[in-house]
Amino acid sequence: MTAALALQRAGFAVEVHEGAKVLGEVGAGLTLSRGAQAVFRALGLQDRIAALSTPSTAFPFVHYGTGRLLAGQLSDSAGLPDDGTADISRQCHRADLHAVLAAALEERAPGSLHLGHRLVAIEEGASAVSAVFADGSRAVGDALIAADGVRSAARALLWNDGEPRFTGQTAYRFLVPRAGAAPFLEHGRGAVFVGPGATFNRYTLRSGTLLNCVGIAATGEWTGEGWSTPATRAEMLARFAGWHPDVLGLMGEAEAAIKWGLFDRAPLPRWSVGRATLLGDAAHAMLPFLGMGAAMAIEDAVILARAFAGEPNVAAAFARYEAARTPRTALLQAKSAEQGRLTQARDPEDYDAAAAPASDPAILAYDPVTAPI
Ligand SMILES: Cc1cc2nc3c(=O)[nH]c(=O)nc-3n(C[C@H](O)[C@H](O)[C@H](O)COP(=O)(O)OP(=O)(O)OC[C@H]3O[C@@H](n4cnc5c(N)ncnc54)[C@H](O)[C@@H]3O)c2cc1C
Repeated sequence: MTAALALQRAGFAVEVHEGAKVLGEVGAGLTLSRGAQAVFRALGLQDRIAALSTPSTAFPFVHYGTGRLLAGQLSDSAGLPDDGTADISRQCHRADLHAVLAAALEERAPGSLHLGHRLVAIEEGASAVSAVFADGSRAVGDALIAADGVRSAARALLWNDGEPRFTGQTAYRFLVPRAGAAPFLEHGRGAVFVGPGATFNRYTLRSGTLLNCVGIAATGEWTGEGWSTPATRAEMLARFAGWHPDVLGLMGEAEAAIKWGLFDRAPLPRWSVGRATLLGDAAHAMLPFLGMGAAMAIEDAVILARAFAGEPNVAAAFARYEAARTPRTALLQAKSAEQGRLTQARDPEDYDAAAAPASDPAILAYDPVTAPI
């Protein structure tokens, strides 16, 4: 939807085809990097996004057992301006972000969002490309931008490069309402616990009324599907036995706990075939340890629109988009994995803040609205 909004702003007619039959509330916390917010600022949406997201300072990294501060500062965010202008990351609920984007799309390109359209084939002619959907309908256009996630059907159709690879790790995600969370927030509103073979990360959403918690542990096996496999409190407590009382206390209050296997893919050297290209997780799904997956999709969106501005040739625009995006997203894929190794250190005392990608300005300071392409 961000790509559609950016292309619409650049003067193109856009149509968005989503496989889901309804836009439901799935998923929870997402980090919006400074670069992602620059995109929303350029699209005139930052006020709305800031109103529903929570500003975050640099996260404290703490010892999984003792809670000792290993790096960073406790994140009480005191004194941070909360009007969307501060140059900091924010966290928001995925459903809240979707609602803003869907509303903006309806305002600016009424009727352009089509639900229940699951892509099953791509057909290219001499001067147009067709998306063919499972219900037999099709959409025809000058260019097809496939943003269909880590299990992208479009990627399989265009590149046929196999399935994503299970990394041996499972993520457990749950929510805790403010009252239940309050006794367990010794380290402020956000914190990352660093432990042997596992990590636990939590931050507040929705003006502090909700705590988003994610524990990631090496499990070696994964049999579930997608984003909706339920997890139990007992299962999480067993995986994190011996961890800090705040972690275990929050798990004891967990609501809506789910789990998902962490999958990755090798970077693709090229994304585009003819009049079709990939965007977001479909092109470059990455591990979640830097919280930059959604931000990369949002960065892609504005760079794609910039590549098309004043460029009548689809292949030339795609080439410019890929040249700008493949090095950065491959770097972020590698750095996310590296951050994961650091936050699951055998000895948390080894956590080296200076060497950690999480504090690398080259990663955090990139502005996709102004970066040369
Ligand atoms: C249901 C869900 C819940 C998530 N929850 C979280 C979370 O809680 N925290 C977090 O950090 N990240 C979460 N993520 C991942 C995160 O949102 C993405 O990594 C990131 O936003 C990248 O966005 P994307 O647009 O590239 O892909 P996605 O956000 O994965 O979006 C892909 C979209 O394509 C649609 N789609 C898939 N296949 C087809 C098809 N064949 N035809 C048409 N449409 C198709 C999907 O329904 C989905 O709407 C979630 C993703 C999903 C799909």
